[in-house]
Amino acid sequence: MTSPHTYITTTIPYVNARPHIGFALELVQADVLARFLRLRGDRVRFQAGTDDHSLKNVLAAQAAGVGVREFVDRNAEAFLALGPALSLTVDDVIRTSRDRRHRPGVERFWQACADAGDLYRKRYEGLYCTGCEQFYAPAELRGGRCPEHETEPQQVAEENWFFRLSRYAQPLRQAITSGELRIEPAGRRREVLALIDGGLEDFSVSRPAERADGWGIPVPGDAGQVIYVWWDALCNYVTALGYGTGGGAYRRWWAGGPGSRRIQLLGKGVLRFHAVYWPAMLLSSGQPLPTDIFVHDYLTAGGRKISKSSGSGADPAALAAAYGTDAVRWWLLREVPRVGDADFTVERMIARADDELANGLGNLVNRVVAMVHRYRDGRVPGPRPVPAGGEDLDAACRQAGDRAWAALAEFDFRQATAAVWAIADEANRFINRVRPWELARAERDGDAGAGRRLDAVLGVLFGACSALGRELSAFLPDAAARVTGQCTPDGGRLPLASPVFRRLSPEARPAAEVSGADDGGGQAPGR
Ligand SMILES: [Zn+2]
Repeated sequence: MTSPHTYITTTIPYVNARPHIGFALELVQADVLARFLRLRGDRVRFQAGTDDHSLKNVLAAQAAGVGVREFVDRNAEAFLALGPALSLTVDDVIRTSRDRRHRPGVERFWQACADAGDLYRKRYEGLYCTGCEQFYAPAELRGGRCPEHETEPQQVAEENWFFRLSRYAQPLRQAITSGELRIEPAGRRREVLALIDGGLEDFSVSRPAERADGWGIPVPGDAGQVIYVWWDALCNYVTALGYGTGGGAYRRWWAGGPGSRRIQLLGKGVLRFHAVYWPAMLLSSGQPLPTDIFVHDYLTAGGRKISKSSGSGADPAALAAAYGTDAVRWWLLREVPRVGDADFTVERMIARADDELANGLGNLVNRVVAMVHRYRDGRVPGPRPVPAGGEDLDAACRQAGDRAWAALAEFDFRQATAAVWAIADEANRFINRVRPWELARAERDGDAGAGRRLDAVLGVLFGACSALGRELSAFLPDAAARVTGQCTPDGGRLPLASPVFRRLSPEARPAAEVSGADDGGGQAPGR
């Protein structure tokens, strides 16, 4: 699955409020893919952005009594701040109202579809959900309400531009069933095929400028209309690459040759836009399709639906500041299933971090480094054959990278972290089984065989810690750097053991107790 160029995008959220933990999920998943592919030698571009031209932004700004521009700028800042807060390796960010690359690209895109004969004007009457920014057919509503927002849509009658979506049902179906456009998980692929088979109707792609309060990009040649915000927003994936403004980035990342990939991550609520509208727009304008669409489910917070506007979603930047980036990333990657919703609570995040990062991983690294100091004066014994009983650990270390990659190829982040986590698990089991402190005692009592075995045991354990530093780097970059720091000798000796994770819960039992009374260090620094 390695490829010359891989372009990874996240959806660009409305900035009608501050970001919530649900959006952090998508960013962290994209970041893990980007980091992992870079480590494998791919050339990767990780693209993010904000969707500024939403009617929702206009309404939220009016409610807050602030100008739209000021309101959008302020919230966009909060989204951009997620980059450092979550240790994201975003290569580029586009803001649809601010970025000079965007509008010319949207206009070119529009023109290309017009030239293909796919845009026409029509009077339209329908039920509109401002939350979704889309018209709904009565059959699509649940009890007369928007299935996404559970609000009653407005009756809207206006003359708009329409896009000939109906023309693309067969080509779309073909692209999806042939695997040219891969949609994961399979349930989402079936959902899209069902949408297509249910009949695709042309959709409205402009709004009267007055209803949008003048906010948005005017339709080329028709100043009374602004381009529908979804059309505008979807274009970001190519306008960010210079579609419409020139430059080689578009050719390299979107119109790349065979083997290059365009991976798009999104939530289930915007599936229709990304897996039906967007590919149809690309086909109409003569552009390549994405190669992969991965759809994540939703997070709830404390059992309740997360929504930016209700303020019920935990703020990922605040969580990272309070509990550390590692804890937030680890929860998102370790607990959110590939299919199905997951419920976030701070307590669950803390429990997961304390159990696995502080007690499992942190304690392991600490014990091993402490033992190397205590028994070998900080010098890691040279390579030895794998000691009896260490085969499973050795296998976990050697297989972690390939297993993690196999899982990531299926967008299964939980499975990928499990492959890496197996190293820590096996290593802790191995320590408890071989009891290195007893080998050290026997060595002191003159048993040379025990000394040789201790060398081999410390060697394989040190190898496990080094492997963790290496294999975790895409998932927990900050923590991985600390683990690697502990495993990097200076002047032939390891640095003294110091905790690589702090426990987050004050009630948590000290890690040294959890690991059992031993002579080998626990969290106690080696001497
Ligand atoms: Zn809605």
